[in-house]
Amino acid sequence: MSGDLDATHDPALRSWVPGADGHAAFPIQNLPFGIFTPPDGCGPRGGVAIGNRILDLGRAAAAGLFSGLAEQAAAAASADTLNSFMGLGAGPRRALRGRLSELLRAGHADVATVAGCLHDAAACVLHVPARIGNYTDFFVGIHHATNSGRVFRPDHPLLPNYKYVPIGYHGRASSVLASGTDVRRPKGQIKPLDANVPRYAPSERLDYELELGIWIGPGSALGEPVPIAQAGDHIAGYCLLNDWSARDIQAWEYQPLGPFLGKSFGTTISAWVVTPEALAPFRIPQPARPDGDPAPLPYLLDAADQAGGAFDVVLESLLLTPAMREAGLPPHRLAVSNTRYMYWTAAQMVAHHSSNGCNLQPGDLFGSGTISAPTADGRGCLLEMTFGGRDAVTLPSGETRRFLADGDEVILRARAEKPGAAPVGFGECRGRVLPAL
Ligand code: MN
Repeated sequence: MSGDLDATHDPALRSWVPGADGHAAFPIQNLPFGIFTPPDGCGPRGGVAIGNRILDLGRAAAAGLFSGLAEQAAAAASADTLNSFMGLGAGPRRALRGRLSELLRAGHADVATVAGCLHDAAACVLHVPARIGNYTDFFVGIHHATNSGRVFRPDHPLLPNYKYVPIGYHGRASSVLASGTDVRRPKGQIKPLDANVPRYAPSERLDYELELGIWIGPGSALGEPVPIAQAGDHIAGYCLLNDWSARDIQAWEYQPLGPFLGKSFGTTISAWVVTPEALAPFRIPQPARPDGDPAPLPYLLDAADQAGGAFDVVLESLLLTPAMREAGLPPHRLAVSNTRYMYWTAAQMVAHHSSNGCNLQPGDLFGSGTISAPTADGRGCLLEMTFGGRDAVTLPSGETRRFLADGDEVILRARAEKPGAAPVGFGECRGRVLPAL
């Protein structure tokens, strides 16, 4: 199973790549996959992050550095998207990871050949790593569901289905953007509470959402639910995801069919696919449900998933305004949360998504839903932080925000660490708001 630890996880491993040891996100124990264009313009193509460099998988394959399953995986991951690599599943992915760990390890016999396959990451452009057929956004952050529900329904913030169904909606794949891409403030139908009719105007309540992204690997057949015990095998990796949300458009349009144009104008993801193998040391039991909560229905309940299907990954959201940028101030941390606050595991999302026979495809993307901590310093969106826009957030520049202003940049970060393991990060998920057209 992909939760097993092996030589690639050894915290004592060192890399010969300068700056990789102790790198905040990409030490040799991480080895995330992505799609990049190097400075020579010869791309997009597949690569692996190591420190501040990117290993060019196509070039490494051409140099004869892989064989067997690892060679098969490297060939797939060298393409201009990771879809076919994701579809190969855990076996080839683990074989490639094992070989990459050998090639990049201090003491490797042919450093010169491997070094010839490295690019300076700062000079490369990162892309959305897969052609996303379908994007689905869930709602599994229970503290977010409670806090945002309380804004509208103070007495019963969680609806009765919440503890039975991993709630989700079908999002829009075409507007998923790689970190660093600007996002245009959307226009849409807005109906203030005191107005009788809506108008079409730029959103005045633009928000972000701090989410975990889940990449689907091997697909499933139409008509055939994925059993919960096998659901983890269908996950290719993880990323950060910012589900930009226009709360005013959302509030007017969402009943009765759910989110639509208030969400579909843009979703930003971190560009690196952090594999289940890289996160294996940070698996934790799914936190026990509070007394009185129902047990998951049998098709969502698996002992191994309950024992190790959650993750201890620290999530952060930060904001950088144009005035802060001008003053040379660093991004201001708005919240710290953790993937442990997901009420449902990633495997439960996969099992539920396919439970009606809907087929999954390699490169499909799930969002977890906003993941907030139970504490006031861990709220994963402005809707929660400002209680629906009532209470302004004060920034180090003296500015205040209820919702995002033009030029504001939202930065999401994720990092996993624990004693006895090398810390790994996800790389940033960053996007700046452009004025409405
Ligand atoms: Mn969302």
